Amino acid sequence: AKDRGRAHYRYFQEKMNLSFPNEALMESHLRRAIEKDELTIHFQPQVNLVTGEINSFEALLRWNNRKFGYVSPMQFIPLAEESGMIMQIGDWVLEEACKQLKYWQEKGYRPVRIAVNISPKQFKQENFAIKIREKINKYQITPSSLEVEITESAMTHLQDTLIMLRELKDIGIVISIDDFGTGYSSLSYLKKYPIDIIKIDQSFIKDMETDDKNAAIANTIIQLAHSLGMEVVAEGVEKDKQVEILKAAKCQKAQGYFFSRPVPIEAINESYMKTEK
Ligand code: C2E
Ligand code: CA
Ligand code: CA
Ligand code: CA
Repeated sequence: AKDRGRAHYRYFQEKMNLSFPNEALMESHLRRAIEKDELTIHFQPQVNLVTGEINSFEALLRWNNRKFGYVSPMQFIPLAEESGMIMQIGDWVLEEACKQLKYWQEKGYRPVRIAVNISPKQFKQENFAIKIREKINKYQITPSSLEVEITESAMTHLQDTLIMLRELKDIGIVISIDDFGTGYSSLSYLKKYPIDIIKIDQSFIKDMETDDKNAAIANTIIQLAHSLGMEVVAEGVEKDKQVEILKAAKCQKAQGYFFSRPVPIEAINESYMKTEK
């Protein structure tokens, strides 16, 4: 009953800024979003805090509906998950990311990586690794240029997670844990699973310059990642003070509005790729 109350509250909050009059209508429009070319991907750079270099981008889905305008992924991703549409949408995002990597490779641009968000449902597909392998072969891209971001809870709630992650590692792609620290799970999976990167959830970065507890948690996650030989990325970095703290803690990479918002591919090609060719 407690859970239901919370769900209702969240649902209510979402409704408040919904541009669609109801979810059923949103769902029917989302169903046609791919064929109508309404989906795009924005890219957010991840900055190396030591060198200042940018060698990776997170792919973030954007939906601009002709009739109702821009819809946040916070609204349509949960709907896509509930309705099962996330399979098709997630597949489209992976395909687009691979196409983009292929384009850069063909143009002779310096090697960069794209991190794609994977929904729990996608990750639970038995043939998920096969699908990834097919796309990598289809576009002939370097496997390590593709990263999959999987949330802690998606990893820990699946029985065959270890098998799946090993299959993905065999392909040679990079695996990161998204929203780390928010999953209510034990830490024991960190030693079992072949994880490359931990992404510190933005809730711990927010106010870390004034909130000692958040700073302590972020610092601890950074140390933990380092002792386990994993890379660490701080998410949601908005202030220079936060950058300072993260640098002092030897966090390798950061991502957030302080450096750049997620931007359309044209902006990436202009500012990060062309200049360094
Ligand atoms: P996420 O994976 O945790 O992505 C980070 C979110 O934080 C993004 O929101 C990003 O735009 C936002 N962000 C980045 N820097 C900052 C900052 O400095 N401050 C603040 N306040 N926010 C920042 P966005 O793009 O609205 O995406 C929301 C969520 O939707 C994502 O959270 C992810 O869970 C989901 N999502 C987005 N694209 C996809 C996708 O292609 N597939 C799946 N399955 N989920 C996606
Ligand atoms: Ca993410
Ligand atoms: Ca995240
Ligand atoms: Ca999140």
